[in-house]
Amino acid sequence: MPALAPTAYYDPLTAEARQTLFSAASYLNDDEFMQLEKACAYAFHAHDGQTRKSGEPYITHPIAVATELALWHMDIQTLCAGLMHDVLEDTGISKIEMAAEFGEIIADMVDGLSKLERLEYNDYAEHQAESFRKLILAMTKDIRVIIVKLSDRLHNMRTLDSMRPEKRRRIAQETLEIHAQIANRIGLNNVYRELQDLSFRSIYPRRYATLQKAMSAFHRNRRDVIGKVLRAFSQRLVGLNIEAQIKGREKNLYSIYQKMQDKNLHFADVMDIYGFRVIVNNIPACYAALGALHGLYKPKPGKIKDYIAIPKSNGYQSLHTTLVGPYALPIEVQIRTREMDAVAE
Ligand code: MN
Repeated sequence: MPALAPTAYYDPLTAEARQTLFSAASYLNDDEFMQLEKACAYAFHAHDGQTRKSGEPYITHPIAVATELALWHMDIQTLCAGLMHDVLEDTGISKIEMAAEFGEIIADMVDGLSKLERLEYNDYAEHQAESFRKLILAMTKDIRVIIVKLSDRLHNMRTLDSMRPEKRRRIAQETLEIHAQIANRIGLNNVYRELQDLSFRSIYPRRYATLQKAMSAFHRNRRDVIGKVLRAFSQRLVGLNIEAQIKGREKNLYSIYQKMQDKNLHFADVMDIYGFRVIVNNIPACYAALGALHGLYKPKPGKIKDYIAIPKSNGYQSLHTTLVGPYALPIEVQIRTREMDAVAE
């Protein structure tokens, strides 16, 4: 390693990014923290003088990737792999040198990331997205490598603006078909939704803007529907001694867009923007919860589905109902046991 400090050390934005990483990683112990600082210095030297398309020092990218990983509370090896994920690919450093400094495991992770980087989705025809996803998962023995890859893609997608429109669209399409789906499969739901929305914005910027406007107008007059419904559900279930875990979320822009496309609907028609899930301990509690919620908000006729008594052909089980919630908004509810939830996910 050269003795001189890398030029990016003197860049105020980079210093700030570095500080943000160390704050986000405050859950590490002292030894781990020292290792993080070492990996950070190593990456600084390796990428010294390199810049991103936007003109920023290149090091800001791996720092952002590692910061995201820290926000997900990943372990020290994953954070180090995130900081050094482009080191083997873009600089003269070999895997053996990295292993000597950081151990085999981290060097293996970074090597795995470099191999993923070299895979070209372009070589695969559109309908082969599934086999490409399988290839990525099969190439990766360590699931943490996939998680670093997703953090890498997330940061690239958040900073896609400096790319040419054509390249931007290609990357977004790949992200939508490959990375978002992998995130969904391994249960990183927030990553899944953010990757979808960022891809959507790059592929159809005008549709995205229009839909976003419609969404914020829609929410302006219907503040905190989710909070209201969550409180009402939990009060009612607690009152009846039904132990339950309740989750509610707004659908992301892309899933609303997909629904409009698939069913040929206008925004105003895609009214089921609120979806809730109630997880209970056993099957009798599913039916008890259904009854309790029907007593709270009026159910819509024809919308009650019993996939517990009659599971879907893929084995999916749940009770579905749609309620007339606050502001007369339709509230879609799925009720199931923990085991059914694991199968569905
Ligand atoms: Mn990268």
